[in-house]
Amino acid sequence: MRNPIIGGNWKMNKGSPSEATKMLKELIPLVKKIKSVDIVVAPPFTALFSTIQIVKNTNIMVGAQNMYYEEMGAFTGEISPEFLKDLGCKYVILGHSERRDIFNETNDLINKKLKKALNSNLNPIVCIGEHLEERESGRTKDVIENQFDLTFNDLKSEELSKVTIAYEPIWAIGTGKTATPEQAEEIHIFIRELIASNYDKKTAEIVRIQYGGSIKPTNANELFKKENIDGGLVGGASLHAKSLYEIIKAAEISFNK
Ligand code: PEP
Repeated sequence: MRNPIIGGNWKMNKGSPSEATKMLKELIPLVKKIKSVDIVVAPPFTALFSTIQIVKNTNIMVGAQNMYYEEMGAFTGEISPEFLKDLGCKYVILGHSERRDIFNETNDLINKKLKKALNSNLNPIVCIGEHLEERESGRTKDVIENQFDLTFNDLKSEELSKVTIAYEPIWAIGTGKTATPEQAEEIHIFIRELIASNYDKKTAEIVRIQYGGSIKPTNANELFKKENIDGGLVGGASLHAKSLYEIIKAAEISFNK
């Protein structure tokens, strides 16, 4: 049984320790009784330390939004997985579409980061997803397959089993347009088939595939009811304790049904 994972990707918001702390002080008591859902918040680097301090001894884990694949050295402005690990981060988001599209991250770079993250015992959340014009021209599955092949290139099945894949159709991110549960489920099934054919059936059953793209308390229930949707990566709605909690609760209810 795959238990759901809800990741709150704060993007470049709430990066001051005081703002992050205020939000988390509201979230901690709300989620205290949640048992079946892995809860991860990913604040900007500048709020990681305070976040890790405040969630200590709670059921909230902390992730970073990015990292570089080297351990140390002359890489001005970059953050090493070792730093994140040492700080107490458990997760790292890799290959978010904003990193791919705004900062020109390639599948090859993401693959290097992914291998390093696994090597450093960080749990990677790796994002894949198609642009609107790719969907409209009927190329969604080709795009997903290509990203899958290159991003997860040369990974062993034990390694892939530790990865959470976030299927995030780019046209649904921050736009208020959510994929329908059926559209999302179709691609989640397709990704699971790719895992089964490239690795094996057992690995395909283990890997968690979360959906991302304008998840809100009002649509979370229907999405999480789908058999192959193992929670979500949440941007906008993760900035407010109450809406994030409602999404986490929807994941808990869907799991326990
Ligand atoms: C995201 O940033 O991964 C995301 C899905 O954002 P939003 O929920 O705002 O669409």
